[in-house]
Amino acid sequence: MARPEVTAFIALGGNLGDAAQTLRDAVAALTTTPGIGRVRCSSLYRTAPVQSSGPDYVNAVAEVSTTLSAPALLDVLQAIENRAGRQRPYLNAPRTLDLDLLLYGSARIESPRLTVPHPRMRERAFVLVPLHEMAPGLVSQEALAAVQGQHIAPGQTPR
Ligand code: AMP
Repeated sequence: MARPEVTAFIALGGNLGDAAQTLRDAVAALTTTPGIGRVRCSSLYRTAPVQSSGPDYVNAVAEVSTTLSAPALLDVLQAIENRAGRQRPYLNAPRTLDLDLLLYGSARIESPRLTVPHPRMRERAFVLVPLHEMAPGLVSQEALAAVQGQHIAPGQTPR
């Protein structure tokens, strides 16, 4: 039986190389992935590293409709990260591409490799601001106010 279609939100970020292009390529890769239908991406934002180092980050949030299970969607995200040359020399190291599954419909998932909603998403302006752009109903004004001290510069359109 076909799986139902679920709306999922994915955070994209990177701060090594041409991060804006890497994010655009990641969105293009999502678009051509079997089991992923519609893909919409927020503007690209520029943010100072949080608990990380190196150049400024480029961040965005993509909304996808998918018939993949949440673990299968995580497999896809990790394969795209790996193809972008993602390495993990140490915790929170600068990275070419980081893809996090923020929300998978209304699911709550606690497994060894997947926690959804993403446990730190509410602490981060670079997630909440683009998520609010994509789905205003999912991010309250109070949540935005709580991260307003974190500098985030509105960036370019995704293409
Ligand atoms: P990172 O180094 O930030 O890419 O962390 C990836 C690790 O976090 C992987 O081991 C994932 O299995 C785990 N993880 C847990 N929950 C999530 C999530 N919601 N989205 C992405 N990775 C997750």
